Amino acid sequence: MARHRAIDPSGGASAAYEDQPSRSPWIAQLAPDGPPRPLEADARADVAIVGAGIAGIATAFFTLRSTPLSVIVLERDRVARGATGRNAGQLTTYFERPLHDIAREFGADLAIEGQRAFDGAHDLLDLMAAEAGATVRVERFTGHMGMFSRNHVLVHLRNNALRRDGGLPIEACVISEDAEFLAAVPAAHRDLYSVVPQAQVRELLETDDDRYRAVLSDRKGCANSGALVQQVLGHLEARYANRFRYVDCTRVDKIIVGSDDVRLEAGGHGVTASRAVLCTNGFTEHVVEDPTGRRVELHPDQRVVGTIGFMTAFFEEHRRAPAAMSYIRNTTIGGSTPYVYVTRRTYDRPGDTVTLTCMGGPEWPFEGSWNADLPFPGPLLGEMDAQVRPFAQPARLPGLPYDFQWHGLMGYMDGRVRVIGAHPRHGRLLYNLGCNGVGFLPSIHGGRQISRLLGGERLPPSIFDPREAPADAQG
Ligand SMILES: Cc1cc2nc3c(=O)[nH]c(=O)nc-3n(C[C@H](O)[C@H](O)[C@H](O)COP(=O)(O)OP(=O)(O)OC[C@H]3O[C@@H](n4cnc5c(N)ncnc54)[C@H](O)[C@@H]3O)c2cc1C
Repeated sequence: MARHRAIDPSGGASAAYEDQPSRSPWIAQLAPDGPPRPLEADARADVAIVGAGIAGIATAFFTLRSTPLSVIVLERDRVARGATGRNAGQLTTYFERPLHDIAREFGADLAIEGQRAFDGAHDLLDLMAAEAGATVRVERFTGHMGMFSRNHVLVHLRNNALRRDGGLPIEACVISEDAEFLAAVPAAHRDLYSVVPQAQVRELLETDDDRYRAVLSDRKGCANSGALVQQVLGHLEARYANRFRYVDCTRVDKIIVGSDDVRLEAGGHGVTASRAVLCTNGFTEHVVEDPTGRRVELHPDQRVVGTIGFMTAFFEEHRRAPAAMSYIRNTTIGGSTPYVYVTRRTYDRPGDTVTLTCMGGPEWPFEGSWNADLPFPGPLLGEMDAQVRPFAQPARLPGLPYDFQWHGLMGYMDGRVRVIGAHPRHGRLLYNLGCNGVGFLPSIHGGRQISRLLGGERLPPSIFDPREAPADAQG
């Protein structure tokens, strides 16, 4: 989830590792897909959704549930093989940009409403899982982020002040009594943190690295979003057989957004729909245009830039409580050293249940075509083992093989704020995309909002509204 070029893939502490096959623990838990179901003739539906990850399936779920519309979901691969099957599966709701910075751009009220919406997606996830009868394991706990400089702490205290003023619960912040910067924290923030012994910082962060002097804690959780999506899809097919259709192994190549309908060219056939919803994450190989052949695009801040995120995981020797921790490593926010993040969760295997610890952090900008089968680079595995493993499990010996190593495609946008809603000029085209590193719960919120729009509701302005570049708007 940390958006920075991280570790030099061409060198470093790599000798112990060769390139490894890519293998995601979440895809390993999926049920068999059954035979492929490609589109074999032209089709028609009220709503065409492109992409069968958490965004597409959540959008289908809420649309079928709250409107009478017919829905077709088109997926070029199999269900949950994009980021939804290759993430860290952490339930979290922060923006990869300080909330007070979002408030500066959009105003405090809209920023708070955006945060409130993401926070509320925990309940939407529970609703979706319960109604679908999903058996996927969802764990919840308090997660912790380690900080070591005054700069980190002030950013989060400013966010907290905004949360408090906007009526949101503040995130617990503790600062060590040994923190060198304690006296420099402005008095105005005094009610937003507590001073604790350094031992408490160590305990919360499970580290003896006394560089870390402060901790921010909030509600987190873990789940396999891929298994959830697969189970919800099964529910939708059973429950709405007369107005829901799922098509896989069918790539949408072109989307033509007209004034009366939308036409999708997919797998050599055409799909005509009243509205189309893009739930395509960082995949941008398809063309979207109007009937004159002019590209339909969004504001540059809202254009997706693919980025590959890399993760590894290992089974623990003993069962441990689920946890989510992240450790800032930059001295200044926005510096080039990524934070690292660790999630520990209960993992069900055929025949037993164990603890799986996942480590992440490094990312690369995406050039060319992301390929799920590309091996995990050995040098990177070596660097993660050297740099991230000590945060995840200091007792684990260096150089051991990992049980899983995988990579996934993230959809970042320069503005770091997801896009949810209809194109301002081409109202038949809607978006629920732009994970910006955190997309599990935000995709579910997006799905519900899209269903409300499709159901005819007018929603108040939000930070997620699609926008056009000024020049586009004039054209
Ligand atoms: C390494 C990594 C770690 C992450 N960790 C977290 C985390 O801990 N917490 C969190 O909240 N988020 C995390 N994320 C982000 C989160 O996984 C994503 O935001 C979320 O899964 C995106 O869901 P989606 O449905 O938008 O995209 P995807 O799951 O990528 O689904 C998009 C689907 O669209 C299909 N598609 C694309 N183009 C076409 C086309 N032209 N025709 C047909 N189908 C098409 C793709 O095949 C794909 O199945 C992580 C992501 C990665 C990669």
